[in-house]
Amino acid sequence: MHFAIVGAGFTGAVLANELAKAGHNVTVYEIRPHVAGNCYSERDEKTGILLHKYGPHIFHTDNEEVWNYVNQFTDFMPYVNRVKTTSQGNVYSLPINLLTINQYFGKTLSPKEANDFIKSLADGEIDEPQTFEEQAMKFVGKDLYEAFFKGYTLKQWGRSPKELPASILKRLPVRFNYDDNYFNHKYQGMPKNGYTPIVERLLDHANITLHLNTPFSSENKVSVDHVFYTGPIDAWFNYNAGRLGYRTLDFVREDHEGDYQGCAVMNYADEKVPYTRISEHKHFSPWEEQERTVIFKEYSRKCEEGDIPYYPIRLVNEKTMLNAYIGKAKKEKNVSFMGRLGTYRYLDMDVTIAEALDASRKTLDCVNKNKPI
Ligand code: FAD
Ligand code: UDP
Repeated sequence: MHFAIVGAGFTGAVLANELAKAGHNVTVYEIRPHVAGNCYSERDEKTGILLHKYGPHIFHTDNEEVWNYVNQFTDFMPYVNRVKTTSQGNVYSLPINLLTINQYFGKTLSPKEANDFIKSLADGEIDEPQTFEEQAMKFVGKDLYEAFFKGYTLKQWGRSPKELPASILKRLPVRFNYDDNYFNHKYQGMPKNGYTPIVERLLDHANITLHLNTPFSSENKVSVDHVFYTGPIDAWFNYNAGRLGYRTLDFVREDHEGDYQGCAVMNYADEKVPYTRISEHKHFSPWEEQERTVIFKEYSRKCEEGDIPYYPIRLVNEKTMLNAYIGKAKKEKNVSFMGRLGTYRYLDMDVTIAEALDASRKTLDCVNKNKPI
């Protein structure tokens, strides 16, 4: 069989590798001048620091199969994401944990005391939180919500937390101990030389032909048996049901000597600070010695035509539009819509890899049984 894969991010690269290993021909089309999609990392020419061009990426997962899978392609270094936030003139630890609570309220509470104290502040009337604000009010109460979430979320999403779904905040834990690991997952680490070499290795197979700087067009479809499309689903249909809403990010670089902020990620919770966070990339590779440093101030705004789509917004309007596109996608012959953009979901890397592995298994099974993919 001959497969076309649109997009050389993790989704496209894992699919390409699995199908090529099974003996099929795979042609990969990538519109950008490089592979790895939004996980792309590169060595900075000036400083040698490993930079994550499209924003900081930390690998974390509970999925053992995915963890073993990615470890075949690179060495992972131990890394625990510990995020700080600046709010109302002070620096606090995130996600909200016992240190954050004690420091914010000027107390020395034990885990149980803190749990009871936060319960007394939280809004017990809310049964099933629907919105971001309700979720915050139910689990941490007004003070912590306003100090850490309200302003940041307004900047990040350009909407009031009253309009946003509770699911956005459910990504973050609240802890009544001093554990400040940003993630709850069993496995966490940083690829020693960044994400790009992993994707390069995935695509390095005699059955794979890679075209960079090449947008996929309908002419390319004629010559293949099946297409896996990982670009934006609305773009495939020429936006004929409207444009799905995304947030895009602007990263503004600054170079400094020494250590700028002493940690990899510092969030800025106050609405009056225009950026959401500052990432200092050398701290993502703490095993490397670097005298100089590079930071990126991250600004979030509405994604316009020509911008890179980062975060799917998925509000009511978008969900209706998405359903229209899903209906169209189901009718499209010999095309599968995959990945973060192809399914319009906010997916972490491990989930995109798991889904690509699953899709390749199903595809190979269909091919073996002579059934449609
Ligand atoms: P992408 O990486 O977006 O790849 C799609 C590719 O398709 C792109 O290279 C694009 O150029 C190409 N393409 C699109 N249209 C066409 C076309 N018509 N023709 C040819 N090529 C096309 N995940 C984590 O696990 N940990 C993190 O810490 C983390 N941090 C993140 C931080 C930010 C700021 C963002 C935005 C995401 C983060 N993620 C993180 C999520 C991670 O980026 C995604 O899970 C991953 O990139 C999804 O891979 P993908 O292949 O589905 O999509
Ligand atoms: N959030 C916040 N303050 C913070 C960090 C996160 O209000 O300091 C909110 C924000 O709305 C964000 C959500 O919690 O979109 C989920 O946070 P996460 O760190 O998972 O965001 P992402 O990795 O998607 O940027």
